[in-house]
Amino acid sequence: MVDHAMRTVTGQMVQRWLAMCAAGCREHSDYLTQLDAAIGDADHGANMNRGFTAIMRRVSGLGPEATPGAVLTAAGETLVSSIGGASAALWGTALRHAGCVMGAEPVADANLLASALDAAHAAIIELGMAQEGDKTMVDALAPALRALHQALDDGADLADALEQASAAGEEGMRATIPLMALKGRASYLGPRSVGHQDPGATSTALILAALAGAADGDL
Ligand code: ADP
Ligand code: MG
Repeated sequence: MVDHAMRTVTGQMVQRWLAMCAAGCREHSDYLTQLDAAIGDADHGANMNRGFTAIMRRVSGLGPEATPGAVLTAAGETLVSSIGGASAALWGTALRHAGCVMGAEPVADANLLASALDAAHAAIIELGMAQEGDKTMVDALAPALRALHQALDDGADLADALEQASAAGEEGMRATIPLMALKGRASYLGPRSVGHQDPGATSTALILAALAGAADGDL
């Protein structure tokens, strides 16, 4: 029997996701910055860390009854308005679009969460115009969402489906190493960007792992 609780997403789960993102970005800030030092301007760890710290300040004021949509929208607005860097603009817009899809539903099911993540992905593509294979965050996000849909179609529960999405995201992240960057700062390096893991794909894998972690607890 499907445990109904495992198939739902509450505002508190979204808050837990963001808190786990903040903790992950803090813990891996130096690593993300090192990756960005190799093919960018060495600020990715600082951008992500500052971004999720600002998000936590904002959403912790929302209270436990805030809907998933309200939490995501507040998080996205915080990133867009207060943090620099391509990744903050892209993730900020993505989270706002995800929040918009969640609407005012007090609780979202797995399919609504998947639609919200699809909207986040579409917003990143629309704003950044990257395709898969351009060595960006899209290379982690796109395969993760394919795995999520596949798992849900196969009848996996939400926690398992998000685990599979996270694993696919991590694989996509590693697959950026041999690619040449065609978007963002790293593209200025041309062939010299080959052989380095993309920082934005790395933080995206971290965000996906946090989502799986947040869904794994009691919802
Ligand atoms: P900046 O490049 O402005 O210094 P960050 O260092 O925070 O911003 O983020 C860099 C990451 O942003 C890259 O590793 C890449 O994954 C992502 N990125 C950059 N440009 C784009 C784009 N046009 N579309 C998607 N992702 C992008
Ligand atoms: Mg940078």
